[in-house]
Amino acid sequence: MARYGMVMDMRTCVGCQACMAACSAENQTPFWSEKFRTHVEDKEQGSFPDVRRVLLPRLCMHCENTPCLSACPTGATHMNDDGIVLVNNDRCIGCYACCIACPYDARYPYDREDVEKEHELYGEDVTHKVPHVDKCTFCVQRLAQNLEPACAATCPTHSRIFGDLDDPSSEAHKLATSGKAQALNQGLGTSPKVFYIPS
Ligand code: SF4
Ligand code: SF4
Repeated sequence: MARYGMVMDMRTCVGCQACMAACSAENQTPFWSEKFRTHVEDKEQGSFPDVRRVLLPRLCMHCENTPCLSACPTGATHMNDDGIVLVNNDRCIGCYACCIACPYDARYPYDREDVEKEHELYGEDVTHKVPHVDKCTFCVQRLAQNLEPACAATCPTHSRIFGDLDDPSSEAHKLATSGKAQALNQGLGTSPKVFYIPS
C-alpha cells in the first residue's frame, strides 16, 4: 500500500497560483468566499531596498499523528490506508473541533451559503451537497483514475511533486529523503507528509 505525500520545491515556485485555480476548479471549493484547499502565501520580508519575496504554498499536511482526527467526535475525519486524511461529509456535524485542533489552519467550513452558491454555479451535479468541514484530499477522485492531484498536474514549474513516500523509486521519496526537505513545524510531533525544499 502506498503512503502518499507531496514535496514543495521552493527553488522553482514562482507564486503564479495556478495550483490554487486548478484545485478550486477540480474540487468546487468556495472561491467566492475566499476559501481554498490550497493557497500560496505571498509575503514581502525586509525593508527597501533589501526586500525579499517569500512564498509558502499551504494545504493539509496529511499528518501521520492527526490532531484533527483525535478531536473529531463523530468519526467523520478518518485516515485511509494510504495515509490520506479525509472527511466523511455525511457524518460531519460542523462542530469545528477539527478546525480548532489543526495546527496548520488547513480546514474551513463549507457552509449552507456555499452549498447554495455551488448549486447556482454548477447545477445539480455538485460535489458538496451538505454543509461540512472541507480540506485537501490529495484529489482522491483523480488518484482513483491514476491521475496526480490537480495542483501537481497543473504547476508549470513542477514545484509540487506528489507520490508514494515509501517507494524508493518515486521522485517524492527521493526528494523527501534527500536531506534538503523539511516539514513545517516539525516540533509539533504531527509527522506531516508534506515537505518543503527551501529556495
Ligand atoms: S494538517 Fe490539519 S487537517 Fe491536515 S491532517 Fe494535519 S491536523 Fe489534520
Ligand atoms: S466539524 Fe466535522 S470533521 Fe470536524 S470534528 Fe466536527 S464532525 Fe468531525
